[in-house]
Amino acid sequence: MRFLIMVLSTYTISCGSYTIVKPTPYWNEVLAKQYEEFVEDARYYGVEVPPREMVIRADFGNPKQFYEHGEGIDTIGICVIAEQDKIVLGGGRLLPYISAEEWREVIIEHHEEYDLEFKSIVYHEFGHCYFNLPHDDKEWAIMHKYNNYTQLEDWDNSLEYFFGKLYE
Ligand SMILES: [Zn+2]
Repeated sequence: MRFLIMVLSTYTISCGSYTIVKPTPYWNEVLAKQYEEFVEDARYYGVEVPPREMVIRADFGNPKQFYEHGEGIDTIGICVIAEQDKIVLGGGRLLPYISAEEWREVIIEHHEEYDLEFKSIVYHEFGHCYFNLPHDDKEWAIMHKYNNYTQLEDWDNSLEYFFGKLYE
């Protein structure tokens, strides 16, 4: 049984109890640019994105360890939503949370920063963090649990479906 996993420098996950420190507000400029494009794309589909500050920190890191704690899947991005007594990891997995402070954070594992796959991953995490979107069963959906490249085959259609979900 794993008792302690260090994630970045400010996170401590311990087995049974879960302590997580509210991150220092910070936005990586590549991700800030992605946010601006997200707002523009959303506007095209008639969707208003909440203010950027809703996510207090967006940066590159190693989110894999969050998932190793419970799911052991390979992942390249995560949205952390801390609220009341729980932490919601992107996709809806719940972990106990002992602080009452509320905040949201996006972490993208660093790899190619400017291709469409990268954008798809970032939009996926923004979907969780800005719109509380859950995962979608459709393989080509941006909110599908895995980035499997089919999201990129018809990006405009994937985008339309993504923002269309917000009207349901
Ligand atoms: Zn997800």
